[in-house]
Amino acid sequence: MAMACGRVAPLLPCPVRPLHRLPSVSPFFCSSSSSSSSSSSFSLPRIFPIRPASRTAGIVACRRGPDQEPDAGRGDDFVVVSFYKFVVIENPQTDVARHLAFLQGRDIHGRIYVNEQGINAQYSGPNEDALAYADWVKEDQRFSDVLVQVSAASHGHAFPRLKLRYKPSLVQLEGGVSHLPLVDPSMRAYPLTPSDWRKRLQSMNNVSRPTSESDEQVSDRKCLLLDVRNGYEWDVGHFQGAQRPNVDCFRSTSFGLSEQEVASSDPLAGIDKAHTDILMYCTGGIRCDVYSTILRQKGFRNLYTLSGGVSNYLKNEGSAEWVGNLFVFDGRLSLPPSTYKPGANTNATARPNMVHENNTFARCYICGSELLEFRHRNCANLDCNQLFLSCSSCVTQLSGCCCLHCTSAPRLRPVLPGPQRYQKWHMYRDGE
Ligand SMILES: [Zn+2]
Ligand SMILES: [Zn+2]
Repeated sequence: MAMACGRVAPLLPCPVRPLHRLPSVSPFFCSSSSSSSSSSSFSLPRIFPIRPASRTAGIVACRRGPDQEPDAGRGDDFVVVSFYKFVVIENPQTDVARHLAFLQGRDIHGRIYVNEQGINAQYSGPNEDALAYADWVKEDQRFSDVLVQVSAASHGHAFPRLKLRYKPSLVQLEGGVSHLPLVDPSMRAYPLTPSDWRKRLQSMNNVSRPTSESDEQVSDRKCLLLDVRNGYEWDVGHFQGAQRPNVDCFRSTSFGLSEQEVASSDPLAGIDKAHTDILMYCTGGIRCDVYSTILRQKGFRNLYTLSGGVSNYLKNEGSAEWVGNLFVFDGRLSLPPSTYKPGANTNATARPNMVHENNTFARCYICGSELLEFRHRNCANLDCNQLFLSCSSCVTQLSGCCCLHCTSAPRLRPVLPGPQRYQKWHMYRDGE
């Protein structure tokens, strides 16, 4: 049985196949144990719906599709911004107060966390407010070099409200991350520019695909392209030739913090730590910084990461070597590469040439058929609300539910036609 990150399978299994994909608020969240409100591993984790965000009076959200370019000149275009930096902060509470003061009267929703190890921010807002905050943060010398990533919001705010506070761990990981030497860049993976990353991948993938070329000189350097995201993120898009552990949640692998998991599902098990290049990637870079520090402590020497993550890559290199969409942890759920680089091939129906054997890429979680739309939906049963990938026929047959059992639940939402989702409802519950 597939490991489910300390989670249990749904209490009542689906008629065809059990669902294991349960994303939660943070990329690191995969289990109910990560939420302090439900420490029992037997409580069924859910993505709770959140009340529609109240928009600040006088500000009208620009109803722009995700494939349209943000208009820098318009203040009412909503954007989603993210940045993070691991750096020593002497008095984080003072910083929190300063940031809160700056955001007074500005229409910013999102999650902004500060502590002694730095800052981690994902938020949405009207272009003007959102960028003003990022600019203000960068005026601080400690953050002057942060990579601020901006993408178009599709329907106003992508987050339900603002949470700006001190948080003991900037990222959710069992046991926390405060003990990790995250502020020491030499402990983290070496960042590769998107362009260098593309070249490495193209070289790797060309070698892996048997061609008439001699692959002697390249293959004497072993490489492992490692996706450190979670299963449900992989399922809507990933790099060609990448591997990921055969567990839903990356941190359940044997080289993460949970040592008890079996090594057979671990792509890093048994590899030569001194002579293998590990190329790791995640959505925005922060998970790689954390995991590479852990791997460094475990003796892995040659660690590389994609600077700024996939979102930065898609913006700079388009969809080269990438297949599918990018899963994002806000109300938008999934973005085609063209969101980041207009004109980039959306590659929507391309399928990977090489797949890891646990690949579930773009398959209906219910019937297993191939999907054309790489975007999750929430179960129509409010009290289940599980995020899952589904084909249109299963959506129709199960009325938008994840399984037969949910179709008879008391609190059912009507299914919206076509690609529409429950707007504002499928934002993840913020873990308290
Ligand atoms: Zn199906
Ligand atoms: Zn359900």
